[in-house]
Amino acid sequence: MNHEMREDEDGFVTKSILCMPIVNGQRTVIGVAQLINKGSGHPFSDCDVSIFEAFAIFCGLGIHNTQMYENACKLMAKQKVALECLSYHATASSEDTSKLSQDIIPSAETYNLYSFKFIDFDLTDEDTCRATVRMFLQCNLVKQFHIPYDVLCRWVLSVKKNYRPVKYHNWRHALNVAQTMFAMLKTGKMERFMTDLEILGLLVACLCHDLDHRGTNNAFQTKTESPLAILYSTSTMEHHHFDQCVMILNSEGNNIFQSLSTEDYRNVMKTVENAIISTDLAMYFKKKDSFMKLVDEGEFDWQSEGKKELLCGMIMTACDVSAIAKPWEVQHKVAKLVADEFFDQGDLEKLQLNQQPVAMMDRERKDELPQMQVGFIDVICLPLYKVLSDTFPWIQPLYDGCLENRRNWQDLAEKVEMGLTWIDHDTIDKPVEEFSASSEQPKDIEFTVTTLNCTHSTEKRTGTEPQSSHQSRKANGSAGSVGSTALGRFTSLRRGKTIGKAVRERLSSSLYSSSSSGRSQQQEAETVLVPSIPQLKRNNNKPVTQLRKGKQNKARRTQELLQATKTVQTSASAS
Ligand SMILES: [Zn+2]
Repeated sequence: MNHEMREDEDGFVTKSILCMPIVNGQRTVIGVAQLINKGSGHPFSDCDVSIFEAFAIFCGLGIHNTQMYENACKLMAKQKVALECLSYHATASSEDTSKLSQDIIPSAETYNLYSFKFIDFDLTDEDTCRATVRMFLQCNLVKQFHIPYDVLCRWVLSVKKNYRPVKYHNWRHALNVAQTMFAMLKTGKMERFMTDLEILGLLVACLCHDLDHRGTNNAFQTKTESPLAILYSTSTMEHHHFDQCVMILNSEGNNIFQSLSTEDYRNVMKTVENAIISTDLAMYFKKKDSFMKLVDEGEFDWQSEGKKELLCGMIMTACDVSAIAKPWEVQHKVAKLVADEFFDQGDLEKLQLNQQPVAMMDRERKDELPQMQVGFIDVICLPLYKVLSDTFPWIQPLYDGCLENRRNWQDLAEKVEMGLTWIDHDTIDKPVEEFSASSEQPKDIEFTVTTLNCTHSTEKRTGTEPQSSHQSRKANGSAGSVGSTALGRFTSLRRGKTIGKAVRERLSSSLYSSSSSGRSQQQEAETVLVPSIPQLKRNNNKPVTQLRKGKQNKARRTQELLQATKTVQTSASAS
């Protein structure tokens, strides 16, 4: 306060001043408030000071909010610009679009689209797009919903473009999931339970359900505190897949829903969102009991909104994991791709997070794969296919295929246990430290499941896979997409321990207990203390059982297994 009288050039006489800083939340001065000459002519009192202090605080809040708002507006504008750029680069070029839209689209039969045994291995990338367009045509969706043909073609190409070249969760996986949906609707005669709009939504959802997948699961997003995990705390990746789907639809020339009425538009988007979020296995486990209950009660009318949503969610999971029901050669190859992707995540967890990955992501425990597949089938696939095929009998091939693959995996698991079959690992067996030290990328890692020709079964068993096969063929299917969440809870038996019969019988039920946190201190100590033994180089043509690093009795066991192998080989060739 200033009590001295001052006259300025205008003749204004300043008798008293009350001046105060205005601060923000961080106590930074962002302004100054000043009162001059109290009306009564008296000097400012303590009471005036208190009131003025309160006023200054409100000023601070106001200014702070305004600044925040301005910043938010700028950020929104920046985001919009980024989205414009993204959607330009994320969508298909006009050349590719016009080429696809002029292509002759072969029949559904040509691509074997009606079959539950559809395989994409031999299709070119162009063919995968044509097959996708064929499914829309075959369901009469283009005419029914007035989808401009070039928009459909651009959209299909854009969706394909937004899948990353990860080993399993790529465009081929999306195509396979959509094809299974198509086969379930047509061959499985489930279309009679769906409206045309729902069929449209389901096909779109299948094609988009893993958009922009990075080869890492939800748990990984949470552990690494990725921006996606900050955005969505549950079903993290699935929300992102849906967001990407919306982004593509909103990009110029890509909105296949453009001719729909407002209400249809809202409904189809709801179907798509529900279906994509349902592919999170956590959602499946949450909802499966209510579905099973409805089926148990003999539900045959699936038309009410809640029931339809439930049904759509279940069949999305059924499609997502449908590689598990494919012919053994396909399933075998796809399981390898899934494992490769999981092992890559396991490597990241070891290197970046210094954490021990769960069994199915730990390449050190890869020989547990057959047993883990059996667990995956028992816990998720078989019960789901059973209840679905009991309700919708025409999808029985999915159940049968799954059962057949269970036999094959169980067979392999038992052979692994007996030392008669093993998973040959080559580079996959390299200790993780060597990855960081060498320039070799984990993506080049291959492993093969080799079965000795000692089975009395007449079934064809696959031998050693050609090493180049999975690079050239982007196989797909689903044993693992689901596995990425649910199998993350696997605690399967550690390799190297002898697996007793009784233990094996209990295995399926124990597979889903909690993961790495359950590791014993001894196991942790092993990981830290055990020195790595240089990887054994071996001849691909000769079966060699691997040595497990750090296990003292392992070398002896290997000798025993080799001995047993030779014995069986001899007796098999003799018989
Ligand atoms: Zn998937």
